[in-house]
Amino acid sequence: MAIEWFKRDREGVVLQQKKTTPDTLWIKCDNCGEIVFKRELEKRLMVCPKCEYHFAIPAEKYIEIITDVGTWKEFSAELKSTDPLGFRDQQKYSDRIVSSMKKTGKNEAITTGVCAVEGYPIVLGIMEFSFMGGSVGSVVGEKIARAVDRARKDRRGLILISRSGGMRMQEGMVSLMQMAKTSVKLTQLGEARLPYISLLTNPTTGGTTASYSMLGDVIIAEPGALIGFAGPRVIKQTIGQDLPQGFQRSEFLLEKGFLDRIVSRKDIKPTIVTLLRFLMSDLESEK
Ligand SMILES: [Zn+2]
Repeated sequence: MAIEWFKRDREGVVLQQKKTTPDTLWIKCDNCGEIVFKRELEKRLMVCPKCEYHFAIPAEKYIEIITDVGTWKEFSAELKSTDPLGFRDQQKYSDRIVSSMKKTGKNEAITTGVCAVEGYPIVLGIMEFSFMGGSVGSVVGEKIARAVDRARKDRRGLILISRSGGMRMQEGMVSLMQMAKTSVKLTQLGEARLPYISLLTNPTTGGTTASYSMLGDVIIAEPGALIGFAGPRVIKQTIGQDLPQGFQRSEFLLEKGFLDRIVSRKDIKPTIVTLLRFLMSDLESEK
């Protein structure tokens, strides 16, 4: 790389352009710092070949990985957040929603749809972290509620992929209510004897772990995902003790019994299929 020895900001002096690698070709691993060829990374479903770090991937990628080709059909895509409190911090909440919509091309922080997974009828919901930190407001809660209703109506299993910073504070109490709402809905799903598989990805924190993310009949997680309720700094200040190594990561939670299994991205579909075979076998005999 060329070193810039002098700064010449006099008019008419043209500095030689720095030669840089197009960032579309190579990606630096956030975890181990290895420079990885992007195409290679994509082939490995965005998992680092050196350290197995799981890069964030958009909802569409999970749909590609999990669902049977041509079976995905989105619903409730039209639902949009209103601004019930007329909330404003540094920015108006309504403006934040609009800029998140522009950035992600989505109306909210979760995408829900029906699909088949190895032929099993499923309702799948995938959270989008890039939409206001995957925070849960009234619309995310409502979309999960409708996902459960749809699963009950069609006799489908439910899979939710969590990626969230927690409840959306711009909606105040309305967002906190979504914890109760989604929990009640999942109870109804359980009463209908339909399975719910929860997949936790990096990060799953705050109110999501205090509600639907941790209510799966089976709870699986991607390796190395940050999973927890309060942040480590808050906990450290509260208990006045240093936290153990690897605290709030998938591996730590598995050891403590919060998770059923850690699953590498490439193994997500086969694992889900095995689970569905077990959880939905009696549904097949209903037909
Ligand atoms: Zn790496």
